[in-house]
Amino acid sequence: MKNVIVTGGSRGIGKCIVENLAREGYNVILNYNKSEKQARKIQNELREEGILIEIYKADVSKREEVKKLVNFAIEKWESIDVLINNAGIAKLQMFQDVTENDWDEIINTNLKSAFYMSQEVLPNMLHKKSGCIINISSIWGMVGASCETVYSVSKAGMDALTKSLAKELGPSNIRVNSIAPGVIDTEMNSHIDEKIKKEIKNQTPLGKIGKPIDIYKCVKWLIDDEFTTGQVISVNGGYVI
Ligand code: NAP
Repeated sequence: MKNVIVTGGSRGIGKCIVENLAREGYNVILNYNKSEKQARKIQNELREEGILIEIYKADVSKREEVKKLVNFAIEKWESIDVLINNAGIAKLQMFQDVTENDWDEIINTNLKSAFYMSQEVLPNMLHKKSGCIINISSIWGMVGASCETVYSVSKAGMDALTKSLAKELGPSNIRVNSIAPGVIDTEMNSHIDEKIKKEIKNQTPLGKIGKPIDIYKCVKWLIDDEFTTGQVISVNGGYVI
């Protein structure tokens, strides 16, 4: 069965991807940074179902910590088949209020992490001429979001990374794709009140807000697929068409 690293697997979309891939029989490393308690809870609950996963603390915005995470995976499995760059943060603020620290924190967590993770897993994938990288970007990287400029830039950068790497790595049988979720019901959106949620639903052709499982289903499809690369697949209920 395939070996998968999921960054930011302790909560939200990443948690859902970890739990479902593990239940499908994949070998999974759940990476987390701050949410150790949540990571252990996921590990323990899966263990009660007879499913073993690894959890590993690493701040993926830091090269040294990424190196340790990837080395852990290689020591454990020898081979990494799938990398899911999911870890991310968002901050709502007017562009005029964005500080250098805000810029660096968001870009480093959302985009530089994908650069580090991809570079560190690639020697292993190139050696066996096989691999799948999935970047979780966002609709805001496609169309831009007011008051989330840096976030939007980080996700647009992720999509460009996806397309460029797909071209460079296709001949080595490594597929690279982005999933650009619309609004998904996770803690990241806990600031959105019921009135705004209703407005979003009204503006969404499918009339609902997404769930982490909607993103997992696309992840699973991309892992299984053999002829899709360099694509930004937007799972958004039709909110952005
Ligand atoms: P979430 O519930 O806030 O979870 C974020 C996850 O990222 C947590 O597991 C967190 O781990 C991890 N993380 C943050 N900084 C990290 C770091 N430096 N190193 C390692 N892990 C880190 O967010 P979510 O909604 O599930 O979002 C997951 C991804 O989907 C993000 O990239 C987000 O931008 C993208 N996305 C979400 C939506 C949405 O509507 N929810 C829409 C489009 C795209 P710790 O708590 O352990 O630090």
